[in-house]
Amino acid sequence: MTSNPTVPSNVMPEVAESHCPYCALQCGMTLSTNGAGEVEISGNAAFPVNRGALCVKGWTAAATLRHPERLTAPLVRDERGEFRQASWDEALGRVASAFRTVQERHGKDAVGVFGGGSLTNEKSYLLGKFARVALQTANIDYNGRFCMSSAAAAGIRSFGMDRGLPFPIEDIARAQAVFLVGDNSAETMPPLMQYFEEQQAGGRTLVVADPRLTPTAQRANLHLRLIPGSDAALVNGLLHILIRDGMVDTDYLDARTEGFDRVKSEVATYWPERVERITGVAEAELTRAAHLLGNAESAMILTGRGTEQQAQGVNNVSSCINLALALGLVGKANSGYGCLTGQGNGQGGREHGQKADQLPGYRRIDDPAARRHVAGVWGVDEASLPGPGKSAYELLDSLGREDGAKALLVMGSNVAVSAPHLNNVAERLGALDFLVVSDFFLSETAALADVVLPSAQWAEEEGTMTNLEGRVIRRRQACEPPDGVRDDAAVICELASRLGKGNHFTYGSVEEIFEELGRASAGGPADYSGISYAKIDANDGVFWPCPDEEHAGTPRLFAEGFPTASGRARMFPVRHEDPAETPDDEYPLYLTTGRNLAQYQSGTQTRRIAELVDISPTPVAEVHPATARQHGLLDGGAVRLTTRRGHADFRLKVSRGIRGDTVFVPFHWAGRQAANRLTNPALDPTSRMPEFKVCAVRIESMEHATVQSNTAETHPETATEGPSS
Ligand code: SF4
Repeated sequence: MTSNPTVPSNVMPEVAESHCPYCALQCGMTLSTNGAGEVEISGNAAFPVNRGALCVKGWTAAATLRHPERLTAPLVRDERGEFRQASWDEALGRVASAFRTVQERHGKDAVGVFGGGSLTNEKSYLLGKFARVALQTANIDYNGRFCMSSAAAAGIRSFGMDRGLPFPIEDIARAQAVFLVGDNSAETMPPLMQYFEEQQAGGRTLVVADPRLTPTAQRANLHLRLIPGSDAALVNGLLHILIRDGMVDTDYLDARTEGFDRVKSEVATYWPERVERITGVAEAELTRAAHLLGNAESAMILTGRGTEQQAQGVNNVSSCINLALALGLVGKANSGYGCLTGQGNGQGGREHGQKADQLPGYRRIDDPAARRHVAGVWGVDEASLPGPGKSAYELLDSLGREDGAKALLVMGSNVAVSAPHLNNVAERLGALDFLVVSDFFLSETAALADVVLPSAQWAEEEGTMTNLEGRVIRRRQACEPPDGVRDDAAVICELASRLGKGNHFTYGSVEEIFEELGRASAGGPADYSGISYAKIDANDGVFWPCPDEEHAGTPRLFAEGFPTASGRARMFPVRHEDPAETPDDEYPLYLTTGRNLAQYQSGTQTRRIAELVDISPTPVAEVHPATARQHGLLDGGAVRLTTRRGHADFRLKVSRGIRGDTVFVPFHWAGRQAANRLTNPALDPTSRMPEFKVCAVRIESMEHATVQSNTAETHPETATEGPSS
């Protein structure tokens, strides 16, 4: 047995069927290695999710593997505070020593761990186990908290479990009506659009709610251009109309749900004229949308980050779930509610113990039976397992403070770009006694670290991912990592060994980690215990739950009942609340943020790929022509956006597709182009999701300053803190 779970090079195939490293669609890819050892990508037409299609991010993903900026040796700070290359022995020695010192001085919870939604299931699981067993800290969370945690919380409280889509993606094509709330798949996961195109064929309808006329909204039969932050009022208004017009499924409500009466009383106050005032969506459009859904024989309501990343995110999703339940859609063929999860392993990453309040198998860490079971698998005393820790932003906000972590391990996350209120996050990272970051590039977060550990990437490693359907799939190794690079799983095991807990972290292969994950998840909501690498290989992946070897997996959930105490779905009345900030005289517009086609999340990878930079070289702020006129802004000119938390600079795009009271910016850039310098860290009270999608902003032209000085301070494209490629 070894504590270095890697795959020997002599089993490396010349062609590997694997998956894209980026989003949760996890498009199937065929990876071929050419004579020069370079990986070439083609779409895997046999994989039933993308059916051969890839977006531009997928096609160019191999560019990161042999990129000149790739880290190939650990970095440590010298006495002058500069990075120098170090051996693995020195780097890991420094990390273990710093963790021991901090814990001796300040207690176990003074070392924090911050994981990522792109890590494989095996790494996510191992990182959670490392925090609870090797460090015994409560403080572990991950960037998935910034992604879909509101949908997860709403799903758990209503259905008793959270799986992004409770049905295979192919069902979308057969739904008579689809209502997309706050999702822009045409840019974030373009191969998914083939299902909407099929769905729309033959007169079936797509309704999109979004403050912008996004490429997705352009394809809709009806676009509801709502005011940012008014989502729950909009959906309550639709339910009001459906109840008023006798279009809800009373048999289903009686047989399969509880709590409808309270929901009905709440939505009674959301009459269309009132909803039009709150949302900006005309009464006629509300009625048309409600009737399109109500008259459909099958319908789906799907949410994205637009409605989830708000301080009312859980309520927003609950209003959508109420609508789906009132129409009798959940568990019915080609129908239901689903969340279009964003990050590559956003689904699996939230199931196996990276979250502050969870243990593997989607178990609660404060559940005595769950603690007993997992402690048994790990061979530790259940009393030694810590309790719930701080959520992602709360953990970051606490760094260096009296009750916060003094040392932090970041793995697979770039919080110096992806967290809200970045000026505060940068200050808190600077207040740490010790920061260690594992990444394959010197990300903006890694650049702040005391020690940087160069990690292997997607095509260089084995493992599993779980896509947005809950389908567990294989990530397969196609090439060796560069010399000097190590796999994160091996690094975690080695660090555990240096902290005196190596006996709990001995694995002969990555598959062995997966097998232990399966045992730890057994009996939990996300039960992987019947899934094996061989079963995944023999199928196109396996849908969880899969509780035993004979079980084929569960593509469709809720057909018979819900895993709640009563077996019924629970409905919760939702009241519209204003966002934490609304426009005023000083900050007269709404700011909303999102993604664009050629960049991905914090841009650590995609800002380094020339083809993607050519398409999307710089962040562009989008405003309506009337807003541009009112504020004296020129199309293509330089603008500064300012909120109560800071300012950031952008190029301006004038577009009739956006509301006049709203500015949109993408969040993939760093430094003076970082949208998250502006965003509000107000948290949803249940999911602890920050309010990335709404705050109040002021916009000013920087053209005069640009012409006069032409300096990096005023010109976004010459800012020195911008993209590194
Ligand atoms: Fe990769 Fe997502 Fe694009 Fe598919 S849609 S190629 S998974 S980024």
